Amino acid sequence: MTENEWIPPSATLPERQDRLTPTEYSPQQSTSFETLVIHAGESLEYQPFEPATTPIYASSSFSAESPEALNAIFAGERDGFVYSRNANPTTTAFERAIAALENAQFGRAFGSGMAALHAALLATEIRPGDSILAARDLYGTTRALLTTVFASMNVRVELCAMDDLERVESVTRNARPRLILIEAISNPLLRIADVPGLASIAHAHGARLIVDSTFATPCLCRPLSWGADLVVHSATKYLAGHGDATAGVVATNDPELDAALGLTQRLVGGVLSPFESYLALRGLKTLPLRFARQSETAFALARRLEQHPRVARVLYPGRESHPDYALACRLFGHDKIGGVLSFELRDGDQDRVFDFLRRIRLIRPATTLGDVYSLALYPAMSSHRALSREQRLAAGISDGLIRLSVGLEHLDDLVRDLDQALLPSAPHG
Ligand SMILES: *Cc1c(COP(=O)(O)O)cnc(C)c1O
Repeated sequence: MTENEWIPPSATLPERQDRLTPTEYSPQQSTSFETLVIHAGESLEYQPFEPATTPIYASSSFSAESPEALNAIFAGERDGFVYSRNANPTTTAFERAIAALENAQFGRAFGSGMAALHAALLATEIRPGDSILAARDLYGTTRALLTTVFASMNVRVELCAMDDLERVESVTRNARPRLILIEAISNPLLRIADVPGLASIAHAHGARLIVDSTFATPCLCRPLSWGADLVVHSATKYLAGHGDATAGVVATNDPELDAALGLTQRLVGGVLSPFESYLALRGLKTLPLRFARQSETAFALARRLEQHPRVARVLYPGRESHPDYALACRLFGHDKIGGVLSFELRDGDQDRVFDFLRRIRLIRPATTLGDVYSLALYPAMSSHRALSREQRLAAGISDGLIRLSVGLEHLDDLVRDLDQALLPSAPHG
């Protein structure tokens, strides 16, 4: 078959598909195959229709009904879309959903949790010579962002444990930070931040409070309602929830902070793609169901592991054995505090932990959290490998500590998997 013999079906489109674009263009005037492959089918004449879900608007640019309308959108006088680095309908839908869930006026989505954190830090107008006060046990990459990118901009970074408010107050008084950065629930020890107390301290000293609420989600708390200026999530974790998207969000009620976040989206360009926005928006719909089930299963596993002869210590903020149990119950009003728990193997060292990681069959030995899959992580090897052993031990992260992110598998199957993986090691052959 030669090219000439083959008549492309689109050259003989039935009448109702003839209007290819809203312009004067018509296939009667130009039926060339090259033009048809570009325009055929693109504009359905039986608009408008309402899709039941938000579609993936895989379009980098958008036109408007007139040059005047486009001009008004460019000028910001009218809502609308012109270019997807500035705004994309699928991404905007996800951003609005996040704002609603965080009791915020504004939401912004970024290509990852780190891009969201970076934008949130920049939004506070941090400048050379300023200082940042941050929790000592921040997510490792966040800590590295501060101590490399921001420190090299001549920003002073002060790290401090956030559990003693009097101490935080005195460090704040001395350091006069532009912002305080904390995590609502820390990793991997699941320490709980007293967000209302820390917001009062920050504001009494003219600092902004940024809360990374990745481990808490809006199911547990809305940090803006407790006085935080910006709330950030790695939406890669619970919000998207299925281990298939990398995304970050920032929400705020302050129009100036939001404008600064929008500027970073447009100028730096780390916006969330429409595909990832779609996945995140879709995942979000089941967040309360997932979070409730993951929290119940994690609570039950924590209680069981506390009794296990091979487990020296369990960390779950909903259990009385956790140092922040009372604070957690006061802030959240219950004891089902997320799907992550950590536990320490008795006489645990790297060999014993590796043995455990080799033996788990249902739980996956992988990083990330808040997924539908259960995941086990060895912080000494992954999130905290940049610390020296002494620094790690001082931070409370021992050689035998394992973090478990509980998915949506049945409790009985997870118990069985943990029990078989925790059997005393047989000598390797
Ligand atoms: C994963 C994570 C981040 C980074 O998010 P990415 O989506 O991986 O960029 C930041 N903070 C916390 C608490 C996280 O767990």
